[in-house]
Amino acid sequence: PLIFDRVGRKFGRTSALNDVSLDIPPGEILCLLGPSGCGKSTLLRIAAGVERPTSGRVLLDGEEVAGPSRFVLPEKRGIGLMFQDYSLFPHLTVVQNVAYGLRDLGRAEARREAMMALDRVGLDAYAGRYPHVLSGGEQQRVALARAIAPRPGVLLMDEPFSNLDSRLRDRMRDDTLAILRETGATAIVVTHDSEEAMRMGDRIALLRDGRLMQLGSAEELYVAPNDIFAARFFSDLN
Ligand code: ATP
Ligand code: MG
Repeated sequence: PLIFDRVGRKFGRTSALNDVSLDIPPGEILCLLGPSGCGKSTLLRIAAGVERPTSGRVLLDGEEVAGPSRFVLPEKRGIGLMFQDYSLFPHLTVVQNVAYGLRDLGRAEARREAMMALDRVGLDAYAGRYPHVLSGGEQQRVALARAIAPRPGVLLMDEPFSNLDSRLRDRMRDDTLAILRETGATAIVVTHDSEEAMRMGDRIALLRDGRLMQLGSAEELYVAPNDIFAARFFSDLN
């Protein structure tokens, strides 16, 4: 499991995160939902190890990876990342981009694994192309392939579909969900779209001003919101 134990993060006097505790079992897809500035990306960056908590701890499979006395570097955590800007390397081909995180395997093996990941996202035919000739949706798939290629136990996605038009977004969401289920990865998917959270999340964590307001299944949040804030967040759905 991935555990956030009373995690806090301050930037100067602003509290980006306040006492957030979450226990995410293996294979769960947790959607992190909340308005702009509520701390979603900060929580994800802390899990990834590119940001440190100012209080509390993060545990991954029983090991403390961030806390007062321990900090495990991002590349040692076995966590896959996918951010809103796909950050593909423009000077590398699609397959080289995907193989980048597999450098330790050796060339042939890295290429084979990269091709398998590309096959999974339906882009094996694009292996030799450069990112700039791909559409936004295709680049998004390459980024997904790159994130899953090392077979991480945990995948963190920050608004992964926000750059796509709505039709493509629906398709990518369904495909990504299928891939996550297939690989059995634990995932945190950040979104500010309550419909996306309801469709993807086994559970939804609703954040506001750095605090965890409610945690539960889509149904629980919809049927029994804790407060007006949660109710409003879902009220535009039917
Ligand atoms: P959005 O939906 O707009 O992406 P978010 O929920 O991801 O928002 P965060 O990026 O986590 O929000 O930011 C939470 C708060 O922490 C914001 O007030 C933000 O300005 C602040 N913050 C985040 N990173 C830093 C930083 N490096 N330095 C100072 N303040 C920061
Ligand atoms: Mg963000």
